[in-house]
Amino acid sequence: MSFQHHLMSSLIPLTSHGTIAVDLSVCTVQCVCPQECGAMLAGRLLRVWRLADTAATGLLRGLRPGPVGRTLQPRLAAPAAVRRASSFQHRTHTCGQLRAKDAGRSVSLCGWLQFKRMRKFITLRDGYGVTQLILPDEDRRLSELVDSLPLESVLQVTGAVRLRPDGQQNQDMKTGDIEVVAHDITVLNKPERELPFNVRSFNKATDPAICPQAKEALRLQYRYLDLRHTELQENLRRRSQMVAEIREYLVRDHDFVDIETPTLFRRTPGGAQEFVVPTRWPGQFYSLVQSPQQFKQLLVIGGLDRYFQIARCYRDEGARPDRQPEFTQVDLELGFTSQQEVQALVEGMLHRCWPQELVTPFPRITFSQAMTQYGTDKPDVRFKWRLVTVTRALRSCGLDVLEKQLNGPDGAAVALVVPDGARHHSRAVQAQHARMAEQAGLAGVSALPADGAGRLGGRLAAPLGAETCSRLAAAAGAGPGDLLLLAAGPEGAARTLLGRLRTHMADTLEEAGVTVRRAGPHFLWVVDFPLFVREEGRLVSAHHPFTRPHAEDEHVVYLDPEQARSQHFDLVLNGWEVGGGSMRIHEPALQRHVLQKVLGEDTAPLQHLLDALASGAPPHGGIALGLDRLVALAAGAPSIRDVIAFPKSSDGRDLMAGAPSDISREEYELYHLKKPS
Ligand code: ASP
Repeated sequence: MSFQHHLMSSLIPLTSHGTIAVDLSVCTVQCVCPQECGAMLAGRLLRVWRLADTAATGLLRGLRPGPVGRTLQPRLAAPAAVRRASSFQHRTHTCGQLRAKDAGRSVSLCGWLQFKRMRKFITLRDGYGVTQLILPDEDRRLSELVDSLPLESVLQVTGAVRLRPDGQQNQDMKTGDIEVVAHDITVLNKPERELPFNVRSFNKATDPAICPQAKEALRLQYRYLDLRHTELQENLRRRSQMVAEIREYLVRDHDFVDIETPTLFRRTPGGAQEFVVPTRWPGQFYSLVQSPQQFKQLLVIGGLDRYFQIARCYRDEGARPDRQPEFTQVDLELGFTSQQEVQALVEGMLHRCWPQELVTPFPRITFSQAMTQYGTDKPDVRFKWRLVTVTRALRSCGLDVLEKQLNGPDGAAVALVVPDGARHHSRAVQAQHARMAEQAGLAGVSALPADGAGRLGGRLAAPLGAETCSRLAAAAGAGPGDLLLLAAGPEGAARTLLGRLRTHMADTLEEAGVTVRRAGPHFLWVVDFPLFVREEGRLVSAHHPFTRPHAEDEHVVYLDPEQARSQHFDLVLNGWEVGGGSMRIHEPALQRHVLQKVLGEDTAPLQHLLDALASGAPPHGGIALGLDRLVALAAGAPSIRDVIAFPKSSDGRDLMAGAPSDISREEYELYHLKKPS
């Protein structure tokens, strides 16, 4: 049914009053009616319109009931194509909206004075873009007014759209085909002082950073100014759009229930360091939730078996670049489900909200394959380079140092071939690699660049000898011009190092103008993680203590827990971990065993969960996706701080309001705290 048809059929009951004509192109409503029904008609139309197209509601709010038989006129002479972005506001268009087809239109724009030149040209900016305005020569009043105004003054401008003269179009501006000849300018406000930096559009092609002229600390201090950047607003709009699609998908299409859970909670054993909140009770503290993990399991046990939440979480992980102490997760949980079903649900959700078409199902690899092939559990599969074990080719190479490393505990030799990488192995790159090797706890990394004939060179080539070198090149698959990087020692450390060098060399080549990574989003599931890992001599959960062992490894948890695989799965996008989930332990005995016997934790703080599991818990599982990272990747933003309205600095502070801050003496007393001297 067309919109017009829908509108008219909904109005049939009203036509007994007379005739109604609706002309959408000029947005007027004709009411020929023996009674004064204008108000009722406008109200009715508003409802119908809201059903059909929320864009029109703004216009209808402006309708005033007119006398019988007269046209109901919008208060503002609104153009036919009023976009949603201007409804309920006193402007006809945004500053990013006008195009060549609008030439001849009378418009009203609101925004900030971004730029002025020769008392004739100004640009007006809002969160949607920038429009060039022309001050007519004959109207000195306007040019004098603009001359007296500081940049960032807040203006409302009415005027007429016209095509820019030939040759003066600006392809870098969305509105670059037109300009608006100003007829009137109202100054709505002026800045009182000089602002700390200019708000300017930036050139994404040459510098991906928003506002490159201002240091990030300054931008964070004046975040309300920074938010005026169209690019930052586009990121926040993208975020809002993605969240809306996620809600639609989960609530409308799949009957999930959006449930808020507490953020003031109690300390949870294991996992990240939590923020502690003092209370009026001496010696008693809340902890801010690091995730709604326990609550979502308790909801499923309570029978709410399709839960989700756009959840705010808190982790006190100290200063970490590109991590935030508070962050947002798309958190969900289902009862009576399986790992494959949770993964399919997430694939459908991302397919729905992602700005580009996605191919589903996403590929899956096991943790052990990821570590072997890429040296990391979050591989960037946009490029193919893989690690190769070359231990056999070097086993009896005659080089003492190398043989010692190969014969040491867990010793192995691993190689990475960087295609056409020999000419990118500068001294600076070598120094960076040496530092990275040291951080990985290895003596070093050897570089063997291949010449045009495919012969390996570098410091190790002569002592190895030509025969071993060609065996090594063949085993690793190195050809002419390639760079072979070789790490020897404990296998895990060698792989981890080469995994980091893989990313580093890809960046190095790309900085030199070589395309290494394929374009677009490359999602990947990593599955079959170990259930526990050893840290500082003791076992800790690889995911969290509620993660279920792999179906084939349940007995291993009792026999040799370190060898047990889990039903934990991570979602990786272009080398970033964007989500992690698992099937959960639903048997109290197994949960108690894991907590007490394997992890050595006190179960008292989790007694409520153990009791809940003991009251008939269904099998269940779920996942959490990091919304900030996901949106940053979807928006092509270099940092998650570019997709958060008010982020903390990289050392976790609010630089705008100055938090954290001191508290009063009374508050120290109220919360039983001792003021540091
Ligand atoms: N609570 C987990 C996390 O925050 C996700 C999950 O297992 O659902 O990483």
